[in-house]
Amino acid sequence: MHTPDRPSWRCHNCADPWPCDRARNDLTAKMDRATLASHMWAQLDDYARDVPHGSPTELFDRFIHWTH
Ligand SMILES: [Zn+2]
Repeated sequence: MHTPDRPSWRCHNCADPWPCDRARNDLTAKMDRATLASHMWAQLDDYARDVPHGSPTELFDRFIHWTH
């Protein structure tokens, strides 16, 4: 399973920064766009708690941008 390891936020399976390419594919296949976007906002929230110094632009690209 390509799921995030917290608090490092690397993929459990491939060790890429989560969401890795495979996780993005899996999530896109599993959810419609609206569900996916709100799921990823929730993930971003959790990430921001674990990694409070993250750059907002980077976070948006990493968690949200690809869901559109
Ligand atoms: Zn992965």
